[in-house]
Amino acid sequence: MIASLRTITYEDLKGIIGKEDGIAIWSCDTCAKGCHGFGGEDSLRDLASCLRADGFDVRKEELMVASCYYDGIRSRKERWIVAGDYDNIDVIIPLACQEARVAMAELFPDKMIIDDSRTAGLGVLDENGVCILTDPFEWTGLDASDEGIDLPSVAEKLGMFTGPF
Ligand code: SF4
Repeated sequence: MIASLRTITYEDLKGIIGKEDGIAIWSCDTCAKGCHGFGGEDSLRDLASCLRADGFDVRKEELMVASCYYDGIRSRKERWIVAGDYDNIDVIIPLACQEARVAMAELFPDKMIIDDSRTAGLGVLDENGVCILTDPFEWTGLDASDEGIDLPSVAEKLGMFTGPF
């Protein structure tokens, strides 16, 4: 599985998006959910509710099993178009890995896709269903290990975050 770290805080996020923006939150229900709940349904609903409470215009909440799947993203996009919602969305906040973000940037070229995650490498789920990093990518400066490294430690070392906004 993909081991994702969050790169920005909720306060950072609020500084990037505008109150006039139509916002979609797009959450991955697979690896990103296993990364301390960065993705998944709870993080999606909680972020939507926090942003609305802070006066932001969240118009869509998308939950997708694998948000890196081009055909799946394309089919949601077509649904937005058919429903007449496409032009009302300015910003997409991915609660997903950076690979999903790349796919979204390609398929939604006219939307701002928030850059909020980095892939630290590959990992496995531990006995609690939480991702541990076993095969870090070179940029992290970490060594591979079968025991794995817990993501909060990785995030602290790299100056990033884990879990939901
Ligand atoms: S979008 Fe990324 S985090 Fe979600 S299933 Fe695909 S690879 Fe895993």
